[in-house]
Amino acid sequence: MCAIAGAFNVPNASLVVRHMLFAMQHRGQDGAGIVSSHAGRLLPAVRGFGGVDHVFADIDFDTRLPGLTAIGHVRYPTSGDPKSEANLQPMEARRRSGDVAIVHNGNLTNARVRHHDLEEAGAIIRSTSDTELFLHFMARSGESDTANQLLAAGAKLEGAYATLTLTQEGIFAMTDPWGFRPLVMARCGDGYLFASEPIAFDVLDELELPEGTLPSITDVTTVPQGTIVRVTGGEAYVQTYMRPPLSRFCAFEHIYFAHPASTVFGQSVNAVRERLGKILGWRNTVKADLVTAVPDSSNAAAHAFAQAAGIPFRFAITRSHYTGRTFIKPGQKARQLGVRAKFQIVRELVKGKSVLIVDDSIVRGTTTQKLVKMLRRAGAREVHMAIVSPPVVHPCHWGIDTPERKELVASQIEQGALAAHLGLDTLTYLTHAELLEALEDPKQDRHCTTCFTRVKPIHCHKLPH
Ligand code: AMP
Repeated sequence: MCAIAGAFNVPNASLVVRHMLFAMQHRGQDGAGIVSSHAGRLLPAVRGFGGVDHVFADIDFDTRLPGLTAIGHVRYPTSGDPKSEANLQPMEARRRSGDVAIVHNGNLTNARVRHHDLEEAGAIIRSTSDTELFLHFMARSGESDTANQLLAAGAKLEGAYATLTLTQEGIFAMTDPWGFRPLVMARCGDGYLFASEPIAFDVLDELELPEGTLPSITDVTTVPQGTIVRVTGGEAYVQTYMRPPLSRFCAFEHIYFAHPASTVFGQSVNAVRERLGKILGWRNTVKADLVTAVPDSSNAAAHAFAQAAGIPFRFAITRSHYTGRTFIKPGQKARQLGVRAKFQIVRELVKGKSVLIVDDSIVRGTTTQKLVKMLRRAGAREVHMAIVSPPVVHPCHWGIDTPERKELVASQIEQGALAAHLGLDTLTYLTHAELLEALEDPKQDRHCTTCFTRVKPIHCHKLPH
């Protein structure tokens, strides 16, 4: 779970990339980095731990990252040691054919095997991140052309990747054959922009730059699966290197991860979330006094649920925008304290009432258990829950941060006992068929739903549980 962004032949490219990354900060807050190219060479990347505004607070973009072309990354660690500086991106290397830097969103599923192969072959590996593998296999490919090097690396790697590679020639975007992670591109005057989500382009509207205003952004399109896009001159060169009959777009991008104002995999995130809520709301049988969301990720679904169920929607749970992330804090106690600091109950709305919470997902169950206690303490008479996704029963190996199976509450506790375990009066989940209906993918030839089904999306190496 990360975001990547790139700007080619655009004034103040690194600053533009910084703005795009900031717009996608919801995809990763643990690290950020940008590298630019100027006067035929790559400048040293600026990288650091923390959010975009923190990492680039004291950076003079004109002097540290000049040039018309740049790529960047925000990190949410799903592979490699989260505390290691070597795992921050962009990752840079020197090749015979010139300097190269890469940013990557997604997880490689054969990284362990390939790290081992490389070490056996005498390679010195700098990081524990799967992204470094691209650079090694590019350098070892024997090819001189960057696109061919990327193709050779892709042939050695399995799993999820949307990548941007920067060389002195320009930017090369590459997506995996199955399209697990989103990537979009757009024209910007005579240049190009790339981003994980189109929300990154929206924030550039009317942006004032030291070198004047940014040319208008047009022709926003998805970079399809199995594609390399080369932007090294006036026109983008798009090469499809593999076209499988299926796609494996991540369903969780729509359920939780992507920004509601974005369109990913060709569908509006907000529209999918509204459909998720509506479908579950139609078959609701709980007679609650009010429906409330767990802000912000379930807002659209909860509102649609309430309308479909004919129950008033109220903002009974509010969230602080000043707390850090609670989900990946190490240790259950820390996660519980995090949830407590993040959410507040509006007492007068829930006192003596039957409250129905709509959330997007239950993973460990930490958020639900804590919210139920808080609502009961605030005087709620009954607390029900509707989850607009099926039970999460399997970890994700393709780039969403889910803990291993023994920490997934729906994998450990039987369905019938789950409501009581979480302290709820009732608990309803969306079914897998309903999820596919909301995604408008009835035959499931487009989406990956392994976290809900345990069915692997594609043939791949043995994976941990
Ligand atoms: P949990 O508290 O472990 O049950 O996690 C579920 C809550 O965290 C829900 O409110 C989700 O909105 C949110 N969530 C689900 N998946 C993730 C994820 N991969 N990273 C961060 N938050 C998540």
